[in-house]
Amino acid sequence: MSTIAFIGLGHMGAPMSAHLVAAGHTVRGVDLDATAAAAAASRGVRIVSSIAEALAGADAVITSLPKPEHVRAVYGAPDGVFAHAAASALLLDTSTVDVETSRWCHDEADARGLSFVDAPISGGTAGAEAHSLTFMLGGHAGDVARARDVVAPMAGNVIACGGAGAGIAAKLVNNMMLFISVMAVSEGSQLAEQLGLDPQVFWDVARVSSADSWALRTWYPVPGVVEKAAADNNFDASFSVDLARKDCGLAVRAGDETGVHLPAARLALSQLDELVAEGLGAKDCTLVARFASPDGTLRGYDPARDDAAAHV
Ligand code: NAD
Repeated sequence: MSTIAFIGLGHMGAPMSAHLVAAGHTVRGVDLDATAAAAAASRGVRIVSSIAEALAGADAVITSLPKPEHVRAVYGAPDGVFAHAAASALLLDTSTVDVETSRWCHDEADARGLSFVDAPISGGTAGAEAHSLTFMLGGHAGDVARARDVVAPMAGNVIACGGAGAGIAAKLVNNMMLFISVMAVSEGSQLAEQLGLDPQVFWDVARVSSADSWALRTWYPVPGVVEKAAADNNFDASFSVDLARKDCGLAVRAGDETGVHLPAARLALSQLDELVAEGLGAKDCTLVARFASPDGTLRGYDPARDDAAAHV
């Protein structure tokens, strides 16, 4: 069994690192947020206070960080991953970043004789808990082959996508399609409500009909239909508006750079922008269902509960 450094123990990192512990690995974790670190510790992760400490003697390093700037900082800082990784360690970034940031990680790793694989994931927090995530791997073939073994305890599917940045490219396209699906499910759920359909009955129909999708099955934005959906928890985030906006924005930027027209993705991005402008960036991205509601209210979402939580 090996020693794995895990940096970023949030919604995804906490359950992912717990599966590595369950598989028998020693996992040393780092997170800036004490609550996130404590939650991971309760699942067997040994919390340490620096990247250097986490990486000492580690066979693999896994990062699960919010945004490109966090990835560049954690890898590139003087006290970061590149400065402390052993040449024998395999570095895997599971964060969703832009293709340029991923290629920067590859180039910097290559320049130092280190092995880096872009390893973004799909499946949400439910997939992380169920160790059924899809991993999309990009990098040198030998490193990608090694990465397969490292991610196995967290994965349902592992797909080698190609060279440097190919995993991230696949992930950005996947997530752009997801947020367009979320819009479809949002509008459908609200129209079904207004037409007087029982939400469970409509969901049962769509689930086995041509409107079926991962967003429908996992994130249906009406309370009492899908277990653990954000709609049952006042739309507290399982995938935050902020992260969804980041992913959608990265995809739209990739469209601009390649000349591909993405009107539906732009609409999804504008709805996410609007939620951020309203101060709702930390809520769940399925809150976009509010834009379809006739009066702007949404069953399952009570803004007063957010205010109350903010004043505790
Ligand atoms: P999160 O915000 O819940 O977790 C990120 C963690 O990183 C936080 O706990 C934060 O404190 C920590 N962190 C930030 N900077 C740090 C630093 N310098 N050192 C140590 N820790 C640091 O985010 P998440 O939902 O777990 O997502 C993580 C990544 O995975 C993102 O890139 C996201 O886009 C991607 N992703 C998320 C989901 C999902 O459903 N949540 C699904 C697929 C991919």
